[in-house]
Amino acid sequence: MMGPSHALSGAAAWLAGSWALDAFAGYGQSPLAIAVGATVCAGGALLPDLDLSGKVTRNQGGATVARTFGVLSLFVAEVIEKISLGIYTATRLSKDPRRNNGHRTFTHTLPFAALVGWGTTALATHYGKWAVVGIIFFMAGLALRGLFDEWAERAGWVIVTLCSAAIAWFTAAALPGDRGYPMLGLAVGVGCVVHLLGDIITSAGVPILWPIPTGRRMWRMVGVPNGIAVRVGGKTETIVLRTAFTVVALLAIAAMFAPGLLHRFELDAWAGER
Ligand SMILES: [Zn+2]
Repeated sequence: MMGPSHALSGAAAWLAGSWALDAFAGYGQSPLAIAVGATVCAGGALLPDLDLSGKVTRNQGGATVARTFGVLSLFVAEVIEKISLGIYTATRLSKDPRRNNGHRTFTHTLPFAALVGWGTTALATHYGKWAVVGIIFFMAGLALRGLFDEWAERAGWVIVTLCSAAIAWFTAAALPGDRGYPMLGLAVGVGCVVHLLGDIITSAGVPILWPIPTGRRMWRMVGVPNGIAVRVGGKTETIVLRTAFTVVALLAIAAMFAPGLLHRFELDAWAGER
């Protein structure tokens, strides 16, 4: 899938999950916490494509996400791509093809999702609020770039960076400072997993089984069969899926914050009694 679909699916998944936690487990969160979680999860759902490198020296190429912070994130993407290729080459088995590009390898695995989720939590736990500000700044940048791609393209990376800084600043001022932020790491990890699911429904697939070897292959690309696969950038993705993600996100928001609204349209039975 393309960047905007990944970001939207991440936000929708987090909002739906927050609603389900609230409705079925009685775990309520403040509106700010939910907004931060949805933003971080949307950004996390773009993170795996930070392995799509471009030409740093010419400021060209790279995935949507790699262009978020200008040449700097393009450079980071190039480094991540090379590291991923290194991991691929070091762990490939005899039936795995040779590769000269690391896209859709290490960052598209479950261990990567767990690693960045754990890393985010560790950073927030050790360094407290300043780490949280940094994490929100970075993830908000990715989310803005993904969710509002046309605006971000026109505005350019300087404006996107400034907006992310404003979001991080506002959030830092409003967040309580004296506790851990376990949901941040979870949001990043969930976002990565949602990205993998999004790539699985396209025909290229992702190495979801890594590092479990199957038939002398460590890096088996798992995806749905070509006949039913979603074409990247096709109408199913840009219209059907994006509409569905938007509807899920809006319904979850309405169910959490304006249950009366759902009642008016008789959607409350469908969204679960509260
Ligand atoms: Zn991807």
